[in-house]
Amino acid sequence: MLNVLRLDKLHNIVSGNKWFKLKYNIAAAQQQGYSTIATFGGAYSNHIVATAFACHASGINSIGIIRGEEPTLYSSTLIKASEYGMQLKFLTRQAFNDKEEIKKTYTNVYWVNEGGYGQLGAKGAAEILTLVPGLETYTHIICAVGTGTMFAGLVNSALPGQQVWGVSALKNNFSIKDEAGALVNKDAAAAYEILHGYDFGGYAKHPPELINFMRETWLESRLPTDIVYTAKTLYAIKHLIKNNTISVGSKVLMVHSGGLQGNASLQKGVLPF
Ligand SMILES: *Cc1c(COP(=O)(O)O)cnc(C)c1O
Repeated sequence: MLNVLRLDKLHNIVSGNKWFKLKYNIAAAQQQGYSTIATFGGAYSNHIVATAFACHASGINSIGIIRGEEPTLYSSTLIKASEYGMQLKFLTRQAFNDKEEIKKTYTNVYWVNEGGYGQLGAKGAAEILTLVPGLETYTHIICAVGTGTMFAGLVNSALPGQQVWGVSALKNNFSIKDEAGALVNKDAAAAYEILHGYDFGGYAKHPPELINFMRETWLESRLPTDIVYTAKTLYAIKHLIKNNTISVGSKVLMVHSGGLQGNASLQKGVLPF
């Protein structure tokens, strides 16, 4: 049996896990007296638009350091982020990668890591499972993994005997095991594992096979998924059920982490939702 926790329905902008990951970062910034939060991301980043919105809602200024040259036409992500008052700063890929150098050029700014990675993010993500009725009845909790922050939060809040599995959205990103592991509490009760090989060619890659799977999923169950994270996670779950890695009689909870705004990078009409 497979149930889906629809975090995509929480909010259409800060949809999904980003709200949980930002919550304690924003609180820390406020407690420490900062009036500006800055972070990093790409032109279609769910994290950028969520940070812009959450800061706006909390009365905090926001700065988004964006990977790549300023485009002549802004993506819908960037348009929304600027509408929420985020000040955007575009850097070449090379300059973008030197985070410590970038941080030096700003003073009095509270920095949130790219993708919201970190202990405070995991602390917020640990609250996701409080939304699940009958949590103790699940054998498996499965989510997408980018930075691994949400995954670590789920591991930290899952119950003894439960399996928490993460599906990596990045290709062959084997260092994620340690990065996510660094956010897992020593006394975490659940078993956990990160799965590779379901990236469909790499981060945000979306070959026709994936798009077809997303179409079929929509037609079958009216479940919208995104090309970067949730479609690949659902695909992985179905594959694991089919090959009996998840055995008959298991009860699986997929955490649908939102991210549907990322589909705006596709041409109109490619998806039926
Ligand atoms: C950001 C994001 C993730 C990845 O979360 P991490 O905590 O970075 O692993 C997964 N799903 C969606 C929809 C996201 O937007």
